[in-house]
Amino acid sequence: MALIKFPVGLGKTNRHDDVKQVQRLLNLNKNRMFPVETLTEDGFCGPKTRAQIGRFQRSVMFLPLSQATGYVAPDDATYNGLCWGAREPWNVKVPQKAVDMNTSMIVQQKINQSEQPAHGKNLAKDDFFLSPNFTFFQMTATTHTEFLAQNRKEAMGFVDTGKVLCTTLLEPIFQKFPNIKVTSGFRCPALNKAVKGSPSSQHMKFQAVDFILPGRTYDDLCWFIKQNEKTKGNQHGIFTFGQFILEGPPGRQWLHFSLGEPYHAPFPPERHIMAIKNPPSLGK
Ligand SMILES: [Zn+2]
Repeated sequence: MALIKFPVGLGKTNRHDDVKQVQRLLNLNKNRMFPVETLTEDGFCGPKTRAQIGRFQRSVMFLPLSQATGYVAPDDATYNGLCWGAREPWNVKVPQKAVDMNTSMIVQQKINQSEQPAHGKNLAKDDFFLSPNFTFFQMTATTHTEFLAQNRKEAMGFVDTGKVLCTTLLEPIFQKFPNIKVTSGFRCPALNKAVKGSPSSQHMKFQAVDFILPGRTYDDLCWFIKQNEKTKGNQHGIFTFGQFILEGPPGRQWLHFSLGEPYHAPFPPERHIMAIKNPPSLGK
């Protein structure tokens, strides 16, 4: 990755080639800031470029407003973060033909839902990234192995939605809580029925994901999501979602997180967020 020589941003040097490089990097990181428009890589540091630098710092690096400087300097954390993101397989092509799932092959594959694919790690045959840290196989895995092949086959029809789910809801959580483990993503109707999912479950459209945070309570995560919800009063928020529910009995809980508009009609307030507990106390 080419280096920049001088800082880029409001009031900075903004050397033409440096700005162009930053614009290119921002574009390569576009899916991490979903949804944002593609920048014209013209070497001119205008309002859009400056805004996108700030957005990257807030929504990808999770810097507080006071530290989101809005500029990129050679070898600083923002530049390195941009380069790191640009290396990742963001634009993985979805196979044109529906993946022909060979049942015996799938059953032979070790389905380890707790295993997170590392960046750049070799994927299993026919697997692909939906977002940098979440793969198709991971998001379609099930312990009900009799439904696995069918589940993955039917999931192919909802891959675009699955990408939005992973990119906008899971990735920001992963940045902050890297031990997040997905337990259930897409569920074809037959699988959904087998696990006694709701008949109108968003899981059947790849619009919902269940996950756990092993070894810790959900207070921090609940508040992270609550405080970073994009609302009229919080335009810098990261999350636009349909439902956020803490489910399951104490000690065996998981979180259900789903897409909202335009994928699903708005949920009434009492069903939008369920079971937010006390805010984590500071300094404990
Ligand atoms: Zn769920």
